[in-house]
Amino acid sequence: MGETRHEKVLIIGSGPAGYTAAVYAARAMLEPVLIQGIQPGGQLTITTDVENWPGDTSILGPDLMAKMEAHAREVGTEIVSDIVTSVDLSARPFTAVTDGGATWKADALILATGAQAKWLGLPSEEKYKGFGVSACATCDGFFYRGQEVVVAGGGNTAVEEALFLTNFASKVTLIHRRDSLRAEKILQERLFRNPKVEILWDHTVDEVVGSEAPLGVEGVRARHVATGAVTAIPCKGFFVAIGHAPASELVADQLETHHGGYVVTAPDSAATSVPGVFAAGDLTDHVYRQAVTSAGMGCMAALEAERFLAENDEGKSVSEPLGWGAEVRAG
Ligand code: NAP
Repeated sequence: MGETRHEKVLIIGSGPAGYTAAVYAARAMLEPVLIQGIQPGGQLTITTDVENWPGDTSILGPDLMAKMEAHAREVGTEIVSDIVTSVDLSARPFTAVTDGGATWKADALILATGAQAKWLGLPSEEKYKGFGVSACATCDGFFYRGQEVVVAGGGNTAVEEALFLTNFASKVTLIHRRDSLRAEKILQERLFRNPKVEILWDHTVDEVVGSEAPLGVEGVRARHVATGAVTAIPCKGFFVAIGHAPASELVADQLETHHGGYVVTAPDSAATSVPGVFAAGDLTDHVYRQAVTSAGMGCMAALEAERFLAENDEGKSVSEPLGWGAEVRAG
């Protein structure tokens, strides 16, 4: 049996939301513990340049997350390298059990488990996952030096992945189901300018085709959304970049969720349907999903956790509305 510990604030997740919550909770002397999860640093650790984090014209995603982790540690967060496998939100203190066998009790819980890449759901996609099918160009792009690859999707992720892959591949075909991209205009312009990129508009991928022994991708079959005409595109790598789904499995049956699993928070708040449990970042945000908005929500979650603990565990009443009151007037 592993150890059991009881903390004031437990933070689950280590993306911008989790680390920002940690910084604020630590500075509020709540001695937070942050459990990093399966991908310490979150989605930004598998991206390349981040060009919209204020204060850094361009910074590598892994470097930004290393800085956030160091900041959280420096101000007094205990960072634990482990994976939470179950939580019990039915009674306070809340309970979280980890893969490493530890049991954590927490008076307030901040959920910042983020989101994961979505897949098309094709049997052939499943079959070739790890054998030519990937959802991470940063992780796997290197394997396709001098070869042709296909990317599916039309958002920022798809365009960034396609551009990144031009560093290795001889040709990158982007397949999108509509006739315009939803990616930022600056990224679109870079994509359109790149001579290695070809775009197949108004198509969806029907099937991944490949060899059996050894298992490997040889191409994809794309179907025109209006005519149904099928085009075969040869490629050695197929990258799925069609968005993300919230990582809410741990709490989906215990908290209110909506829009396909995003945890519901109260308006202008990080409070979930269980008092004392707060959610921040991509786990709850189906609209903005930016590093900077996640960080903002992490800040809100920590400030609200602080207020919740003051009101519930120390018998204090906090008279100011959260966030604004004292700090703004002092400034
Ligand atoms: P996204 O913006 O939701 O885009 C998903 C794309 O995949 C859309 O173009 C969508 O098509 C397409 N798609 C969805 N389901 C599909 C399916 N079943 N078959 C074919 N195509 C499908 O997701 P994302 O690009 O991963 O971005 C997620 C969030 O992170 C966004 O808010 C984005 O701005 C942000 N992000 C920001 C940056 C940056 O600022 N540098 C980088 C990466 C991500 P439709 O367009 O037709 O809906």
